[in-house]
Amino acid sequence: MTDIKRGREFLHTPGPTNIPDRILNAMHQPAVDFTAPPFVAMTRSCFEDIKPIFQTEGPVFMYAANGHGAWEAALSNTMSPGDHILVPETGNFSLKWGMMAESLGLVIEHLPGDWRHAVDPEAVEQHLRDDDEGRIKAVLMIHVDTATGIVSDVPAVRKAMNNAGHNALFMVDTIASLATMDFQMDNWGVDVALAASQKGLMCPPGLGFTACSEKAMHASQSAQLPRNYWDWQDRMTEAQYIRFCGTAPIHLLYGLREALDMLAEEGLVATVARHQRLSSAIRAAVATWCSGGDMAFNAVLPEQRSNSITAIRVPTGFNAEDVRTMARERFQVSLGGGLDRLSGIVFRIGHMGDLNEPMILGALGGVEATLQTLGVPHGRGGVSAAIDYLVEH
Ligand SMILES: *Cc1c(COP(=O)(O)O)cnc(C)c1O
Repeated sequence: MTDIKRGREFLHTPGPTNIPDRILNAMHQPAVDFTAPPFVAMTRSCFEDIKPIFQTEGPVFMYAANGHGAWEAALSNTMSPGDHILVPETGNFSLKWGMMAESLGLVIEHLPGDWRHAVDPEAVEQHLRDDDEGRIKAVLMIHVDTATGIVSDVPAVRKAMNNAGHNALFMVDTIASLATMDFQMDNWGVDVALAASQKGLMCPPGLGFTACSEKAMHASQSAQLPRNYWDWQDRMTEAQYIRFCGTAPIHLLYGLREALDMLAEEGLVATVARHQRLSSAIRAAVATWCSGGDMAFNAVLPEQRSNSITAIRVPTGFNAEDVRTMARERFQVSLGGGLDRLSGIVFRIGHMGDLNEPMILGALGGVEATLQTLGVPHGRGGVSAAIDYLVEH
């Protein structure tokens, strides 16, 4: 084999995801005066049309930032130094968001988890019931924890908060679920939902979003954490230079406009259904690989396996990083690796965004070829199982 590579490399990292040519082309434009009427009108349309993606009527703030920026924006706008927050542990992303909160001067109350199960609503309810003095000001939840492949039940956690009669803000990280899984901000009583551009939204990294309920906006009027760039109150304006706290990320906005058009054309329900179908085909393949009992889904319970990303545990004695490296170097499929305590233990297949059947089958083929090459014990015929699923559904 030579080192020369031809054809497309298949990108199945759980962010960034494939950027459709339409979005790349939409960004291929000269820089413009971002304060001139045409661009101002386009920007305004983005601020409006992102709302139905969150299924909210409330304001959405947009930052030249990645998901970590959105995390900080959510916290710094609503919390005050010393406030307690409840962080149910679902994996690396809940851990890291909690650590960020701690570094900003908040006090974290953890609900421990084993990284193989979703948030337990009963544990949330119990913990909040025990908080007689109302010291907990927010519950931070990751809808799909990309590190573990686990989806948690947002309405069930809302219900737990209501059952406990607790007044904390409900903040949900939808970075890996927006436009890939059903998410209904207003119906589900979420106070802050946050997202980033490079996953289900199919754009390059660089835009962060926070969507806010009235209650969250109200909290931002008295919250005392220091903030400037992230400040929602300042950004409540139509003035372009101020609503982005400086120069607007012009080309990312061109890309976002195209992405919003694409999502509107397909329809959010159909987009979510496509993710459900393609990820089910992937799970059919993975279940086949796991059939001998050597490999395993990281998410123990089938209903907690997300439609955005699948984390797969390799057998003891194997290093998941070897799978990842060979898949990329020899078979042109880029996968995610294990994060933090799952390092070397799982590899992850991202399945968000601009994907279709042959892309999924190609990626699965690359992974299966890798497992075979490395001699990782696995049930044969994963790709066929995925084909069977797609034929039947
Ligand atoms: C990707 C991701 C993040 C981090 O986003 P960045 O853009 O890398 O900062 C946070 N939370 C979840 C659930 C993610 O999937």
